[in-house]
Amino acid sequence: MPGSGTRPVGRREGGTALNVIVIGGGQAGLAAGYHLRRAGVDFTILDAQPEPGGAWLHGWDSLRLFSPARHSSLPGWPMPRFPHEGYPTADHVVDYLASYEKRYELPVERSVRVRSVRRVEGGYDVDGRFADAVISATGTWWRPFIPAVARDLPGRHLHTVQYRNPQQLAGQRVVVVGGGNSGAQIAADLADHVDLTWITRRPPRYLPDEIDGKALFGIATQWPGGVGALGDIVAVPPVRDARDRGLLVARPMDRRLVADADTVIWCTGFRPALDHLAPLNLRDRNGHVHAGPRLHPLGYGDWTGPASATLIGVGPTARAAVAELVRT
Ligand SMILES: Cc1cc2nc3c(=O)[nH]c(=O)nc-3n(C[C@H](O)[C@H](O)[C@H](O)COP(=O)(O)OP(=O)(O)OC[C@H]3O[C@@H](n4cnc5c(N)ncnc54)[C@H](O)[C@@H]3O)c2cc1C
Repeated sequence: MPGSGTRPVGRREGGTALNVIVIGGGQAGLAAGYHLRRAGVDFTILDAQPEPGGAWLHGWDSLRLFSPARHSSLPGWPMPRFPHEGYPTADHVVDYLASYEKRYELPVERSVRVRSVRRVEGGYDVDGRFADAVISATGTWWRPFIPAVARDLPGRHLHTVQYRNPQQLAGQRVVVVGGGNSGAQIAADLADHVDLTWITRRPPRYLPDEIDGKALFGIATQWPGGVGALGDIVAVPPVRDARDRGLLVARPMDRRLVADADTVIWCTGFRPALDHLAPLNLRDRNGHVHAGPRLHPLGYGDWTGPASATLIGVGPTARAAVAELVRT
């Protein structure tokens, strides 16, 4: 049962041959749980947070999906329609993930942070629990990346993860750094409320206005070079509006502009949260961990499967990971 506390996981007499520990109970962990349930595998999901929702619990106030509900679904059960037409809020996603977990009776143990995964005979030791196999689905939100240059600069420095709303910065000189979706959306959110400078490494590359999350999934899975070959920024309505009103003027990096700001918001991305896998020594030079014997990283980025860091995209990768575990 969801939230049933400390059900031990170990080899079961007479149970299914395989038991799996899924680390992380965000959308990727739940998608894995759905397919493990269908495959009849004994599994538990361990999640560090006290409540469902993964990273969607922490986004800024105006954050919206870049595609309508019907194109933002996990396997099995479509996301319910957003009551107001258009693009769902983060709260709508949190409600969906909480209901999804209940609907499929996914066994999530909450407030359990996994510190280390070690190889032992026949499987893995996950903080003292035995598992035949591990799916790691801990996301990226928990490892914000800020370039080293920020260390030498004065002023107040925030990362995307600390931004909430324009009221937090009202009347300030604010520099937003980053030409991806977070940078463009936060710059658009602030444009009417602060003295804004938007800094990007190269001129902003907007995807065509008609491209939303559904089209992105198609491009990510079929287009050579993926989404990045076409552009960096999905022109969601608030971004389109600010851009068309001439409020999103990007400049190249200029240390003086950054130094003069009251607050700098670094929208410079994330790294996969993989510290718990460090004892396995599996990281490559990009900091990625590739699927090993009965070990699957899931949901961190395209390197774990096309579009697997999105709601619509994680299902097929989760299905493939579970099929592989069952086969081996
Ligand atoms: C600003 C922004 C906007 C986005 N917009 C969209 C969008 O419109 N549409 C879309 O489909 N995608 C979007 N994404 C991408 C994607 O959907 C999210 O990144 C998503 O949260 C990834 O899900 P996840 O399950 O992999 O990770 P998370 O949601 O981060 O969940 C991981 C879970 O694992 C837990 N955890 C972490 N470490 C441990 C540990 N050691 N032990 C136990 N538990 C642990 C965390 O607490 C968390 O609950 C957006 C991302 C960002 C940052």
